[in-house]
Amino acid sequence: MTTDFPQRIRLSEAEALIDAVGARQRLSTIRIDCADALGCVLAEPVTAPIDLPVFDNSAMDGYAVCGADLDPARPVRLRLIGEQFAGPSKALSIASGECVRITTGAPMPTGADTVVIRENAIASGALIECRPGTPPGANLRHAGEDVRAGQTLLNAGQRIGAAQLGLCAALGLDSVMAAPRARVTVFSTGDELRATGQPLSAGEIHDSNGPMLAGLLASEGIVARRGPVLPDQPQAMLDRLRDAASDSDLLITCGGVSAGDRDHLPALLQQHGRLHFWRVQIKPGMPLLLGEIDGTLLLGLPGNPVAVLACFLVLGRRLIDRLEGVTGLRSQHFARLQRAVEKRHERLEFMRGVLRSDPDGVLRVMPDDATGSHRLAAASRANALIVLPEGPCMLEADTVVPVVPFGPVG
Ligand code: AMP
Ligand code: MG
Repeated sequence: MTTDFPQRIRLSEAEALIDAVGARQRLSTIRIDCADALGCVLAEPVTAPIDLPVFDNSAMDGYAVCGADLDPARPVRLRLIGEQFAGPSKALSIASGECVRITTGAPMPTGADTVVIRENAIASGALIECRPGTPPGANLRHAGEDVRAGQTLLNAGQRIGAAQLGLCAALGLDSVMAAPRARVTVFSTGDELRATGQPLSAGEIHDSNGPMLAGLLASEGIVARRGPVLPDQPQAMLDRLRDAASDSDLLITCGGVSAGDRDHLPALLQQHGRLHFWRVQIKPGMPLLLGEIDGTLLLGLPGNPVAVLACFLVLGRRLIDRLEGVTGLRSQHFARLQRAVEKRHERLEFMRGVLRSDPDGVLRVMPDDATGSHRLAAASRANALIVLPEGPCMLEADTVVPVVPFGPVG
């Protein structure tokens, strides 16, 4: 096998290649209905067509009054001239000495600039006694105080979350220019694999990576397609990958990328597709590769389950971000080690650990002793990867280390 592609690269080099290749293969953008846009990446900024709030309105239930009528020292009596509820404006107006019963979100009557909350007023017939203590201008939401028409609110390259969807709706927008979610097909590979529910013969194991990968993608808002389990047979692998490549934006495989006799993927990609890199100096996950088949990107994860987890979290998500057009990087998190860790080998390592937020406001992570990359039960006890730097080192308890959370932080 010739080696006209980067091999045994460092994590930072793999990240740079993923950024470059992912951006080059960036998905074309379309107009997407806001109802379908959760998790999509904006291709254009969102600019406000209107002010928010749209009009001056009451922040409380109470009485809309002229602030100048109120006396800071003694109660004042005002004449109730009408009611304005949240809903169609009655276009009421008040003069000095008058007030209007009002509810939260209702348009302010002309002439009113203050709301006395219900709890500070006593109604007796058409007279409303306002207790002292409401400063003029209180309990009002001004038009445009949150958003001014013309203001840019969301940026291109930003993912749309629930709050952003709410904002678009408040602005009256029903569609946005965005990338559709990447169409991802996941494949497990290996003659030893059986689906759950099937009895295991000697030498066989259940396919745990397939469901885990589908779950990891679902956590990113992507409903992955599950390809068939690929046998350790090059032609059959190629045929099935090609089938999926024709209508996928990304193929993710697991297994078959090491240097064993049955690890066909690197050579297959080299002969029939392309290899962008193979092998990254990380633990677990060393044999990881990025390639292409018929122009569709293929992220080849190793077979060991914990390697799948770590590689997807660190590099798979990054590739999806680039493909979908995210401009920024995901935020980094840091925590203090709850015990010392001695690292003897060269490669950067993703250890598993339990991350929790202490009452003193500090994030702490307890490393898990089970280090083998087949130890899925240990990984399922954990909620974060702990990033240990390249090179041998002794990290004392309390050392601040980067962490990659992947579950709820306790
Ligand atoms: P490979 O990289 O194909 O040599 O696989 C490395 C290890 O991961 C072997 O012990 C495989 O049996 C195991 N493995 C590979 N694929 C899966 C899978 N889908 N689910 C569970 N274990 C797997
Ligand atoms: Mg295998």
